[in-house]
Amino acid sequence: MIKVDPQKVIQHLQKKWKSGCPYCQESDFGIEHCLYNLTQAKDPTTLKKDDLNYVPVILISCKNCGNTTLLNLSLTGIEVFSES
Ligand SMILES: [Zn+2]
Repeated sequence: MIKVDPQKVIQHLQKKWKSGCPYCQESDFGIEHCLYNLTQAKDPTTLKKDDLNYVPVILISCKNCGNTTLLNLSLTGIEVFSES
């Protein structure tokens, strides 16, 4: 399983999301530490594995209002690690 360090994600959010959650402005986030991939099809008529691109994302949830969003990890510089 590919994971991220939640503390590094929190540090990134504190630096980049200066006003906290965009809906309630609270800054108490739950970080899903597992890495997910959004699958992007090059051709919408096929689901051939070779035609797919991936966007690495993690889930971030506001513990106050429940707003849940995806963060594109490839744009953050946050490193991942493998853990079983
Ligand atoms: Zn919120």
